[in-house]
Amino acid sequence: MDLGEGLRQALAKLSKATIIDSKTVKEFNKSLQKALLSSDVEVQLVLKLTDEIEAKALKSNIPSGVDPRDYITNIVYEELVKLVGEGYVPKMEKKRILMMGLYGSGKTTTSAKLAKFYQDRGLSAGLICCDVSRPAAFTQLETLARQANVPFFGMKDEKSADKIAKEGLNKFKDKDVIICDTSGRSSLDSELIEELKRVNKVFNPDEKALVISADTGQIAGKLAREFDSAVKVSGVIVTKMDGSGKGGGALSAASAANVKVMFIGVGEKLGNLESFNPNKFIGNLLGVPDIESLVKNITTAIKESKIDPKKLESEELNFETFYDQLEAMKSMGPLKNVFGMMGAGNVPKEAIEQGEEKLKKYKIIIGSMSKAERRNERLLHEPGRVTRIAKGSGVEEKDVRGMVAEFNKMRKTFNTLKNDRNFKKKFKFG
Ligand code: GDP
Ligand code: MG
Repeated sequence: MDLGEGLRQALAKLSKATIIDSKTVKEFNKSLQKALLSSDVEVQLVLKLTDEIEAKALKSNIPSGVDPRDYITNIVYEELVKLVGEGYVPKMEKKRILMMGLYGSGKTTTSAKLAKFYQDRGLSAGLICCDVSRPAAFTQLETLARQANVPFFGMKDEKSADKIAKEGLNKFKDKDVIICDTSGRSSLDSELIEELKRVNKVFNPDEKALVISADTGQIAGKLAREFDSAVKVSGVIVTKMDGSGKGGGALSAASAANVKVMFIGVGEKLGNLESFNPNKFIGNLLGVPDIESLVKNITTAIKESKIDPKKLESEELNFETFYDQLEAMKSMGPLKNVFGMMGAGNVPKEAIEQGEEKLKKYKIIIGSMSKAERRNERLLHEPGRVTRIAKGSGVEEKDVRGMVAEFNKMRKTFNTLKNDRNFKKKFKFG
């Protein structure tokens, strides 16, 4: 079971709760802790977060008409947004940006991405290579700068990073955005810190970006505190969000340095840089993709759908109402999300994929039925009808029969669900 599924199941359980008491929240928090820890969020931070969520959840009564699950999801979301920020809007003005982070975190690539980002938006940019520890660093940034069509400055064989910074500033006097790439190490040592402090002094940056790769683990918080105490970090850039890492380290880093996330790197190419958007990031961190928009989608979809709850409740499910439901589902997005949102996170993936295919076919078949047939499944037992429908919809007779059999199964489930309190509430029957 993946983590998102664990968390979705916990959320589903919450849906069944009538009140949010300490036991309910604690139980939910356990799944949240698991999800956050496996996304590499620092242990202490996870505990602090879940404590805050518990306090907040218990402090006030759930507003009437609000699903406990939505209520808690919201609290979790808000607490996480507090740490990473509500979204970053880069200022289009003159600035100097100092890039720092561990070796391999993506500093050099991101330096070039940023230069291109600002240049594409009408500012002039310059790139300085102050990485004096790795011989290949000069050529790497020079090449990237050429690709981005941004002027480059570096001094091969020069060992004093602050000297390069000084000359670079001089060379780029007339540039709007000057970006300084620095050395990295596999871990933070005093030599690197001293070098960084010197560059910081000479370069006098407006922004000091800590570059953290999405797969950085538990060390991220400690790292951020060290960089912060050396030069005062002003923001985090998370790279490699296109990979398997969940960015939990970046959350720890942002929290530790008390700064927000500015940009997200989503690939090796120069264009693969996005201003930070918390929705996507938090969804990824929790394993519940697009957490916020899902909540929105499901509410709008229900509102906009042609389903008349009264009619559904009083009548039996027939092909007509079934068809309307399929239509409504389509507007909610992929079936997988719909099940997830309904708290049925444990529907097997194959079933969902097959389901999507089948639903398409079903709609075509139902489209070939007469009005009377749609309203009364029993008519299909009369000779000739199935053959006609199969012909009309371009499928085989066994497909039509298969659908009728499944429809009947579904009708049974539907009738059970109709009497289920939570389902009623979700579709506003109750
Ligand atoms: P530095 O040592 O911190 O300067 O890191 P580099 O900029 O040299 O990047 C290290 C490796 O990570 C390179 O192979 C980059 O292409 C790659 N990289 C950087 N950012 C991203 C990203 O957002 N996504 C992916 N997939 N790779 C990235
Ligand atoms: Mg580098």
